[in-house]
Amino acid sequence: MSGPIRLAVIGMGKIARDQHLPSIAGNPDFELVATVSRHGEGEPDTPFFHSIEELAASDVKVDAVALCTPPQVRRAIALAAIERGWHVFLEKPPGATLAEVEALNEAAAAKGVTLFASWHSRFAAGVEPARAWLADKAIARATITWREDVRVWHPGQDWIWQPGGFGVFDPGINALSIATCILPRPFFVEEAELDVPENRAAPIAARVSFRDAAGVPIAMDLDLRQEGPQSWDIVVETAAGTLTLAKGGGELTLPQGAAAPPASDLEGEYPGLYARFAALVREGRSDVDVAPLRHVADAFLRGRITQVEPFID
Ligand code: NAP
Repeated sequence: MSGPIRLAVIGMGKIARDQHLPSIAGNPDFELVATVSRHGEGEPDTPFFHSIEELAASDVKVDAVALCTPPQVRRAIALAAIERGWHVFLEKPPGATLAEVEALNEAAAAKGVTLFASWHSRFAAGVEPARAWLADKAIARATITWREDVRVWHPGQDWIWQPGGFGVFDPGINALSIATCILPRPFFVEEAELDVPENRAAPIAARVSFRDAAGVPIAMDLDLRQEGPQSWDIVVETAAGTLTLAKGGGELTLPQGAAAPPASDLEGEYPGLYARFAALVREGRSDVDVAPLRHVADAFLRGRITQVEPFID
């Protein structure tokens, strides 16, 4: 394909406005040709539609769509796009279940279009250097602490509390997208405790114990009730000292004297994602890694559910 990729953004909520629109505007590989949302009025000077069917029936020419809706409704919209021969960028998590993501992957391959299951946290500045540093280290243990204030980061987002909304695993899956990238061996859920408010269907907090293929323990602590300072930290203890990845992967600290491998040249998570999507489309490839989603599914499969006090938004 020559010329910019004609892109429509679907699901005009927080992440579409905060990150997708500015990244698209800053990338000459893309031309924003439409926005789609059930509510609102769209962007000035850009065609706006209330559904993907309305978009498809219009005379707007589309090559690709970015799906920024909640996960529960993403499969049907993605399939409609694939059937029209459009490339698809999926916000994280790529779906509400593993099976539906696999089915989308097969549908995209059959149609010859790109499917990109994006994991924005993997494009944070410290992640690739952390992966490179850990690759040859003897790891003793890893600790993941992801505690944030849901009222600040997900204001009024009811879908997060509904089945398929993942609750605390909506941010927690970002930590898992980093851990599955930087830790050198596969790991598995051994135990999980999920705290579900009695008026909600999804966990507000969770503690998950993993172990990797060499027996290294990995402890994960997730909470959506954190007021004050927020924690998005991964600490990895190794025989060569302790690596700390803070601020959601943005800030890497290595033991004194250790030389940090060079950071990637991508500036920011979403510009990095759009550069990757453009490359995939141009090369005619897909990128669908379900490893973080599999760990969330396994935590729900192996987890003990405890009812906790109601959560009022
Ligand atoms: P959001 O603010 O609730 O936006 C989602 C939008 O999708 C809504 O504004 C809504 O617009 C549309 N939508 C379509 N069908 C819907 C349905 N059945 N229920 C609710 N909304 C529906 O959510 P968001 O924070 O942007 O998150 C969207 C996705 O991006 C999630 O998968 C999330 O994990 C991911 N994400 C979020 C963040 C963040 O910081 N918030 C960061 C990275 C990734 P209409 O009502 O107009 O259709």
